[in-house]
Amino acid sequence: MGLGRMGWHIAAHLAGHDDLHDLVVFDVVEDHGPRWVAEHGGRAADSVAAAVADAEFVITSLPSDRELQVVADELVPAIPGGAIWVDHSTTSARIAREVGDRMSAVDAHFLDAPVSGGVDGARKGSLTVMAGGDEDAFSRAVPVMEAYAARVRRMGDTGAGQLTKMTNQICVVGLCQALAEGLDFASRAGLDVEDVVQAMLQGSSTSWQMENRADKMSAGDYDFGFSTTLMRKDIGLVLDEASAMSISLPVTALVGQFLADVDAMGGADWDWCSLMERQRRFGPGIAPPGEADGR
Ligand code: NAD
Repeated sequence: MGLGRMGWHIAAHLAGHDDLHDLVVFDVVEDHGPRWVAEHGGRAADSVAAAVADAEFVITSLPSDRELQVVADELVPAIPGGAIWVDHSTTSARIAREVGDRMSAVDAHFLDAPVSGGVDGARKGSLTVMAGGDEDAFSRAVPVMEAYAARVRRMGDTGAGQLTKMTNQICVVGLCQALAEGLDFASRAGLDVEDVVQAMLQGSSTSWQMENRADKMSAGDYDFGFSTTLMRKDIGLVLDEASAMSISLPVTALVGQFLADVDAMGGADWDWCSLMERQRRFGPGIAPPGEADGR
């Protein structure tokens, strides 16, 4: 359920899996299910309850807490006992625990299982899954997740998957902004940016972002991937959790503000590496220290 940028490909890998049968898909956007079935087979349901009526496994990839709540309200009363719901959405740890408790109350299981690897990883079936929840349910779900994931890891009890994903986002946001600054600097210094990237890929500043996003950033091509809106949502989740723990995350917070600028520039649906576009537009306006105050 949730045949979006990620879910579309995740479901496609399930359709191609020999041991999995009777695939049922559902998306709240009416034509998504029928379009997916026309391409991959299976059956499209017309409601959450109809989709899960006989389910052994339920896989969701939804935007945020709000949609997870909506789906849970319809799913929990309809799901058969013993079924396992694997949620690949990135959400708060709090809602993951709440949904986990509601599933336990009807003798079913919930795994919060956010992913890393992006749309490319979903398309290639090489996602990384960070899961939280019951050990036995996790073991039973591993062969299903292996249809579209290269690495599947249980991080602890319910909520631990989301906390791990938050850690991942904290570690990556500053990297992408740094890459935007570096590429902009190299370009304004008159260097051949592609050559610079090739040199750096062998050195200490190399990263997944550099390998997979530098060319798109240089070309100003942002019409793909993980949207600014979704990254802003993730940063919000991180900052809420950090605030509850009384931890300050200055770089994460700053990049969150930069992404608000990207949104205001019309980039809500662009991949969030469009931090590059903000740097291009606003970079030249940043006065060096001393110049701004006339020293
Ligand atoms: P998306 O917006 O493209 O897809 C979400 C899908 O859920 C849409 O098709 C939407 O119609 C559907 N949906 C919304 N409400 C629904 C409901 N009540 N019932 C059924 N379907 C419903 O988002 P996405 O980029 O595929 O991301 C999905 C999740 O994966 C998000 O939580 C995101 O943070 C996470 N994620 C995305 C990426 C990425 O690169 N896109 C990478 C890692 C994690």
